[in-house]
Amino acid sequence: MYQLINGKEVSEKVLEQIRQEVIQLKQAGKKTPHLAAVLVGDNPASMAYVNSKIKTCEKVGVTSTLVKFETDVTEQKLLSKIEELNNDTDVDGYIVQLPLPKHIAEQKIIEAIAPSKDVDGFHPINVGKLVLNLPTYISATPYGIIQLLEYYKIPTQGKHCVVIGRSNIVGTPMSILMAKNTQYANCTVTLCHSKTENLKQYTLAADIVIAAIGKPNYVTADMVKQGATVIDVGINRIPSTETKSGFKLVGDVLFDEVAPMCSYITPVPGGVGLMTIASLLKNTLLAAKKEIYK
Ligand code: NAD
Repeated sequence: MYQLINGKEVSEKVLEQIRQEVIQLKQAGKKTPHLAAVLVGDNPASMAYVNSKIKTCEKVGVTSTLVKFETDVTEQKLLSKIEELNNDTDVDGYIVQLPLPKHIAEQKIIEAIAPSKDVDGFHPINVGKLVLNLPTYISATPYGIIQLLEYYKIPTQGKHCVVIGRSNIVGTPMSILMAKNTQYANCTVTLCHSKTENLKQYTLAADIVIAAIGKPNYVTADMVKQGATVIDVGINRIPSTETKSGFKLVGDVLFDEVAPMCSYITPVPGGVGLMTIASLLKNTLLAAKKEIYK
């Protein structure tokens, strides 16, 4: 029988700890931590993510500001806003929700964010620090996954971890973290991607599979070894006649088929996604306490 990794339970514990710390900061006469989120356009998934981030701020007593732009905003206007946020002493950290419209150079925007306020951990300086094992903002999704492994005391040391997907925000930082010399990592890591030949050969040899592909139900039972831990990062909207909205969310893993093979598995929804938001708030608190950048 597999153990379901309950992202709701773990994220609520993390958020409660943040809420307590925010209270303590205020009691000590410090300012309330403040997270800003920049949202461009009306991509429904981006709007949903930003709304849950803002709602979660309210839940833990963190001040939030939502900065919205129309899809056709110019790169220059966005860069001016970024400069303003960099100089706003009340804003401890902020995120620019990705993806951005095609006419805006995403990397240019990311690099304009002050590293000290880059609570998503996407700036090259923060990514470099991650690689070098220096204190930094660990990007929220990989950070959330590490906390899940830690909470469930899932054995990782010396294990073979296969990460599927090499994006800058999930797969690549995840593979770096899993290889680190730390208690809830220390894995031998294989990073697979769209050009990997015979993916199954790698996943079948994995003790831990982390799927960050963006393809619904892609990982099937014949790809997973008995007793493996499977972490499903994917959030895919697929048409559904079962819901009012006409769509439902599924992961990159065919859960019903794969779960019986596993020792541990994350559901979608209710797994990694909730930890991503909690970890963003954790980074915001680090920013407010100036623990990474003094
Ligand atoms: P991305 O599109 O940037 O990257 C996908 C990666 O998958 C690429 O590196 C690509 O090489 C790899 N890939 C594509 N097809 C493949 C195949 N057939 N075999 C092996 N590898 C393949 O996506 P991303 O931003 O990393 O997100 C991945 C998924 O995770 C998406 O569903 C996204 O919505 C989701 N996501 C979830 C969270 C969360 O909080 N749970 C956060 C970020 C992203």
